[in-house]
Amino acid sequence: MVADALLTDAAADARAVERLRALVRIPTISRPTSGPGPRPDRDAFERFIAALPELYPRVHAALERERLGTDPGSAEPDAAGPDAVGTPTGPGYTMLYRWPGSDPSGAHAPTVLMAHYDVVPATDEGWQHPPFAAELVEHDGEAVVWGRGAIDDKGALAAVLEAVERLLEAGFTPRHDVLLLFGHDEEVAGTGARAVVAALRERGIRPSLVLDEGGAIVEGVFPGLHEPAALVGVTEKGITTLRLRVEQKGGHAASPPPLAATERLARALLRLTARPARSRLDATTREMIRTLGSRVRGPLGVVFRHVDAAAPLLIPVLRRRGPETTALLRTTRAVTELRAGHAANALPESAEATVNIRIAPDESVADAVAAVRRAIRDERVTIDVLEPSEPSPVSPARGPAWDDLAAAIDEVVPRLLVSPYVMMQASDARFLTSISEHVYRFTPFRLSTAERACLHARDERIRVGSYLEGVRVYAALLRRR
Ligand SMILES: [Zn+2]
Repeated sequence: MVADALLTDAAADARAVERLRALVRIPTISRPTSGPGPRPDRDAFERFIAALPELYPRVHAALERERLGTDPGSAEPDAAGPDAVGTPTGPGYTMLYRWPGSDPSGAHAPTVLMAHYDVVPATDEGWQHPPFAAELVEHDGEAVVWGRGAIDDKGALAAVLEAVERLLEAGFTPRHDVLLLFGHDEEVAGTGARAVVAALRERGIRPSLVLDEGGAIVEGVFPGLHEPAALVGVTEKGITTLRLRVEQKGGHAASPPPLAATERLARALLRLTARPARSRLDATTREMIRTLGSRVRGPLGVVFRHVDAAAPLLIPVLRRRGPETTALLRTTRAVTELRAGHAANALPESAEATVNIRIAPDESVADAVAAVRRAIRDERVTIDVLEPSEPSPVSPARGPAWDDLAAAIDEVVPRLLVSPYVMMQASDARFLTSISEHVYRFTPFRLSTAERACLHARDERIRVGSYLEGVRVYAALLRRR
């Protein structure tokens, strides 16, 4: 078949790697537009947008491209008003591509492939190879592209474009429309993806499948499982920030009251730690345990396959395994900031703590806040709820969209376990859940534990083999749509 020949061509693979490297070299670093520190470099974002038509000519000849959203790192457009600093005077920086399908009736149920091209900051310090040089190096016997964004998330963006470029070269047209949504401000929880969702909703579009970053093909993440598995996020935890505050009369430190503001706040925080949120296994996590457990041998495998009956036994075991598995079990709370006092000999008039909350998929922001209130049981500690975002609805791990994704993975990596899971981090995908019931979070790259540890840290890199495998998964998925 012509298509398959093109998809495994060695020269094409080499060109694919060069394109990825060209994109990693452009330092599209996301930074907030307020507060101390440097501002985002708008020019880098423009250069990135301008580089794409040169690197992927067929995509840009066959697909329409729109620019939506705001400037890099700009303020919330709705809240700030049209005259706020950073709102666009020209086109926005989030890109939406449309690949028209052969069946016009499918225009309202497109496949949406997402990625973002902004990256978190990096300086040369501590990197084995500079973060924006995109060096192609040999590492542990494999060819590797080194640099910030090689995985998160320019790797995914480039792989999507590469897949479309190759399919166009092979003369392929999808049945339904395919949309590519490339955000510019994911790393600063910006508004680009939201602007696109608003535009799609206005056009009456209900995507039949959305695929964004999230899980990957991973190994060594599940007890007793000695083979890789594809973890596909079908939901993500909710997120909110609580501001806990105690206000009290100040005074001289020589005659303190029974509980100064600082002490009352400290007591509240200790009570919070003493009464963590309830542990349980939500439906998605149970399905993950059953799926991954299907290939675990011995008594452990039996327990996993009968997770419903074994849950009371399993929960304490998972809790003891460490913070990552504990986070799977419940809503988490982390005290991230403390503020109080201005002098060594004066009682503070106020004390404040910030608590970052990640809400389990079967709970709500209101449930989580109520649980915090109950744990603290002190009316003099006021609680402000900032930027609440509910857990995402759960997309089904069955049905045509899921089956196409699973089949695409199986076509490239036969017999690989494909399992749903609850994503712990927040992503742009959550905004798409308001217009689609089939939102999945999965980047089709094989990532080792060491490679995953480099995300948002030093020495981010992707193996060339893993990258090319990802290109093939995206292409296999699109050929089914
Ligand atoms: Zn990302």
